[in-house]
Amino acid sequence: MRFKKNKLFIEKVEGLKLVKKFGTPTYCYSLRKLRDNIRNFQKSFSTINPILCFSVKSNSNLQILKEIKKSGMGADVVSKGEMMQALKAGISPKKIVFSGVGKKTEELKFAIDKKILLINAESESEIFEIERLAKLKKKIVDVGIRLNPNIDAKTLKKISTGKHEDKFGLTEKAFLNILNKFRNSKFVQIKCLSVHIGSQITDYKPYSKMINVLDRLLEKSKYVFDYIDLGGGIGIQYEKKTKLFNYKKYNEIIKNFLRKYKVKIIFEPGRSIIANSAVLFAQIIYIKSTTKKKFIILDAAMNDLMRPALYGSYHNIIPLIKNNKRNKKIHDFVGPVCETTDKFLSVKGFYHLEEKEYVAISDVGAYGMSLSSNYNLRPKACEILIENNLSKLILKRQKLSNII
Ligand SMILES: *Cc1c(COP(=O)(O)O)cnc(C)c1O
Repeated sequence: MRFKKNKLFIEKVEGLKLVKKFGTPTYCYSLRKLRDNIRNFQKSFSTINPILCFSVKSNSNLQILKEIKKSGMGADVVSKGEMMQALKAGISPKKIVFSGVGKKTEELKFAIDKKILLINAESESEIFEIERLAKLKKKIVDVGIRLNPNIDAKTLKKISTGKHEDKFGLTEKAFLNILNKFRNSKFVQIKCLSVHIGSQITDYKPYSKMINVLDRLLEKSKYVFDYIDLGGGIGIQYEKKTKLFNYKKYNEIIKNFLRKYKVKIIFEPGRSIIANSAVLFAQIIYIKSTTKKKFIILDAAMNDLMRPALYGSYHNIIPLIKNNKRNKKIHDFVGPVCETTDKFLSVKGFYHLEEKEYVAISDVGAYGMSLSSNYNLRPKACEILIENNLSKLILKRQKLSNII
């Protein structure tokens, strides 16, 4: 994404042409960026040769998942729906892991029938349920157990998952207890230790602590796992001031760990693969000025992009046509939804904007469309994919008649 003269281009296509063709709000992905991200992730960890399972909850568009499949990645899913979508995209069940604290019987049955790589269980009750179903179906099921390592991921509190106060995973004590209980189970084979401490993690140090916890636990348990699933969580640069994640350091830490333990590493990246590959196009409906502020009222809202309202996250906003005049007032970019938190960005000073002009909200590829809803009975946006000078509709805009 870059400006040519004053016009914003996505790959080789002019943004303005896209909004004229597809309307707004529209999620627009760059295929090249997606491919670059995948390649970079694979390269960063090539010396440890991990299994990569894309986190489908970050983006569940079928065409995107087909690209993910093409790259050789598998999928990390958290519901039957996501599992079905991953399978529909052609991803092999042998590359699918199933996470989540509350998998229902029906979902577990489906996973067992599909013979997926691992069901990552998060409670003793869940493993008993898997064992019961496996016995019923006369099958041996490979499972992982998710550890809650009690580590502060140093990210937004609402997207931290690795502290004891969070609902995810099992304490070390419960973990060891389960290992003992199911060591000789005929129907459940504990093959994997899994962890996932949170999302948008930009510092490698929480991961370093996490690996230390795993090391101690493995020593204590004397259990030999086939896989260690390190989850996802690597952050991206939403703001210029955020420092880039140190992949090299993280890779070194894992390499060290692998000198001691001969296991296969699994990663479940979502955000780091897809977040910065998309923008959300929106049109300015009205501009309302007060003495202190300009409210830029967009036709995209929190139902289209929930992250700012849900956990105060930052997304930069860029005009499709850059006006060289500047306006010094505070600009609040808001949506039309009847909630005060329906606000994307508040910045002091911006390019001069007029009503009916267009903007792009940046880095929305992860937890953007997948978190969208029909709140206020607003139809969901469409999604398009750019490849060079081509644009392709990859999800139709929802019609009101679909939801009324
Ligand atoms: C959400 C989630 C991920 C993906 O996290 P990102 O921050 O998007 O990389 C991976 N594993 C599990 C278990 C998750 O819940």
